[in-house]
Amino acid sequence: MNGAVYVNGTWSDRATATISVYDHGLLYGDGVFEGIRAYAGRIFRLAEHVERLFDSAKAIHLAIPHTREELAAIIQEAVRRSGLADAYIRPVITRGVGDLGLDIRKCPAATVIIIVDTISVWPPERYEQGLDVVSAATPIPHREALSPRVKSLNYLAHVMAKLEGSLAGADEVLMLDPAGFVAEGSGQNLFVVRQAVIRTPPVSAGILQGVTRDAVIELARAAGYTVEESILNRYDVYTADEAFLTGTASEVAPIRRYDGRIIGAGRAGPITRDLHARFHALVRAG
Ligand code: PMP
Repeated sequence: MNGAVYVNGTWSDRATATISVYDHGLLYGDGVFEGIRAYAGRIFRLAEHVERLFDSAKAIHLAIPHTREELAAIIQEAVRRSGLADAYIRPVITRGVGDLGLDIRKCPAATVIIIVDTISVWPPERYEQGLDVVSAATPIPHREALSPRVKSLNYLAHVMAKLEGSLAGADEVLMLDPAGFVAEGSGQNLFVVRQAVIRTPPVSAGILQGVTRDAVIELARAAGYTVEESILNRYDVYTADEAFLTGTASEVAPIRRYDGRIIGAGRAGPITRDLHARFHALVRAG
């Protein structure tokens, strides 16, 4: 079986890896995580993901018991041990084992988990045909309740949103923020294209700063496109020429329909395809 799991210095696999039922990651969703990909054995933007993990941990007052360099080395070792050239890597840092109360002072040591496996979010043909997307009823958490910029283990709002999409027969959802602006997918950032101008919500509005989002913005600007970070309404998506989602697991995925409205020509548009190709070239180039 390919894949690897690291828990606090011990190597195992999917079938045998264990953590305590007293771990506050399980009891309270008290922890942070990352989603990273390796392409042909090379990890895409590892330093950026490790930096975001440390920022998420800092924001919830969680001390990671490693330096950035040590953690990056463990992640690289996990990929080597997995035997997978194309892999999805899931580092998870929890508050660790405590008692049944909320007090983090009873959790002396964080739990460090690295899982290396594979992932597929939608069938391959969706990247050509586009995704059917609906608005989720569940909004993303208010930015001062649980900052969406923290990649925390509290993903229940996103899980509920994804479920609402599945129950509606859609491939994916767009989650609104508490003010009603379009924020992000259940695990993706959003871009729209109108008259060749590419727009995406600003991070300060309260969304996760996607590593893929940043890469796509850089690629688009380098290719001469205009990219603006601006607040978006559902109207902006309904009336877009093209719309697409970005994420580590999802990569660059076109939207063909949103809340029943056909977006542009109803399949991957030319700018989406161009950026998808550029993104693939970038991840393969390392
Ligand atoms: N938003 C949310 C809520 C996510 O969970 C993710 C996936 N990490 C993203 C956006 C995209 O981020 P990235 O490109 O870093 O995977």
